[in-house]
Amino acid sequence: MENLGIYIHIPFCEHKCIYCDFYSVITNENRPGFLEALKKEIKTYSGKFAGDKTVKSIFFGGGTPSLLEVPEIEEILNTLAKEFKIETPEITLETNPGTVDLQKLKDFLKAGINRLSVGVQSFDDKELEFLTRIHNSGEAKKTIFNASEIGFENISIDLIFNLPGQTKRGWEENLRTAVGLPVKHISAYSLILERGTILNKMVLDGKVKISDEDYDADLYEFTMRYLKSRGFRQYEVSNFAKPGYECRHNKFYWDYTDYLGFGPSAHSFVEGVRWRNFSSLKKYISEIRKSGKAICTKETLSEKEKLEEFVMLSLRSEGLDLKRLREEFSPLWEKKNKNLLEFLNEEQIIKFAGDKVILTEKGYSLCDEILTKFEY
Ligand code: SF4
Repeated sequence: MENLGIYIHIPFCEHKCIYCDFYSVITNENRPGFLEALKKEIKTYSGKFAGDKTVKSIFFGGGTPSLLEVPEIEEILNTLAKEFKIETPEITLETNPGTVDLQKLKDFLKAGINRLSVGVQSFDDKELEFLTRIHNSGEAKKTIFNASEIGFENISIDLIFNLPGQTKRGWEENLRTAVGLPVKHISAYSLILERGTILNKMVLDGKVKISDEDYDADLYEFTMRYLKSRGFRQYEVSNFAKPGYECRHNKFYWDYTDYLGFGPSAHSFVEGVRWRNFSSLKKYISEIRKSGKAICTKETLSEKEKLEEFVMLSLRSEGLDLKRLREEFSPLWEKKNKNLLEFLNEEQIIKFAGDKVILTEKGYSLCDEILTKFEY
């Protein structure tokens, strides 16, 4: 029986952070309409659509899913349970410190959430202020301790490095704080300037200076070494987990497992077809009311595109399974790239483990560059 992941995009935030380009609105005006539409969309893509697939992961992302009331989350989960075959799912809720108190965390746990992904970003109050986050470091730690004490065993945090003015010592302090907390998973991303964000404009206007790529690479290399030395295994370019706590949902994305995305701006990928919903709450609601779907773009991947994605996603994560590549795609890729693979192996950028090609730490650092070198 094949697995299926489900992503639910909750498009509400209390405030728009300066660096963020995820789709969200800062009003609750359309919340009842959104929930109605979401339930209708889920019913449109019910188990009939997903065939025999079994849902093993449900991920509430956003936006700020933890702004929803617990009965609203329960309603969504109940709708999913009626419409899909779900078995021992990992159910993740992205949670912003500052939006949940102890009681709300207890209620989320009771509702079935079994993994919290806490958007910490930094443990330095000045950095948090710069990022215009709504919480401070103390609140982030309190959320994590509270969650752990009441029984959340699987807690992840997000951190951002190479913030303007961030010293190596400052980043090291962030990581040191992180590993001292009861967290099992850390996502560490370099600050990315997304077009259309306030931060991007600040940089273009010369009001903020971002450190160069070499400095960024130094911080990244330190991150890999440090987290490894603290028992966090790197299983993707930006993701580190204690053994057994790798994010199932992430792994589905990278493993080429099918997933359905519900809500505005959500992406889906099922049997080689990818589609994306409208990134507008109003449009999403009106389209769903009309037809039960809110698809903005849809594409069927060509065999070459599927192969490219498979290679890219596998190499960025747990490694490229050559046996699977030969069976599901073609043996030609290996022949075409034989010399390059040998060279990368000699340079210790990749290593072979049985039938798998795995990036080394050096390889993770050069990942984007390496991926442009392969022939398809
Ligand atoms: S809380 Fe998250 S989704 Fe909302 S604006 Fe900030 S970074 Fe973006």
